[in-house]
Amino acid sequence: MATLFTKIINREIPAKIVYETDKVCAFQDIHPQAPHHIVIVPKAEIPTINDLTPETAHYVGDLFLAAKEIATQLGVTEKGYRVVMNCNGDGGQTVFHIHLHLLAGRPMTWPPG
Ligand code: AMP
Repeated sequence: MATLFTKIINREIPAKIVYETDKVCAFQDIHPQAPHHIVIVPKAEIPTINDLTPETAHYVGDLFLAAKEIATQLGVTEKGYRVVMNCNGDGGQTVFHIHLHLLAGRPMTWPPG
């Protein structure tokens, strides 16, 4: 059973895709938490950070490289931005296909909620 994000990657569910390579896909979050809120997903289905292995860890690097490119596209590299990856219930993860949130366009607070 494909994950929600794989369905977006396969264009079975609509989303505003802003960036795509052979390895990753990025789209606008449906419930944005900042003026810019992009979800960056590997095309490989890995449920959570807990499932990463030395063989699959390179996918996380791909997500960060995509975040850097998207931040450049958005023109926020100098002002700054936040990237977040949630894991399981207490981490706030709701879609079990690892993804990096890129949030920008307003000052972020710390600690996060
Ligand atoms: P997380 O809670 O870290 O698993 O993040 C999942 C994110 O996916 C949330 O910020 C949701 O708002 C977002 N999301 C869920 N469904 C969609 C969708 N159909 N299109 C775009 N973003 C979505």
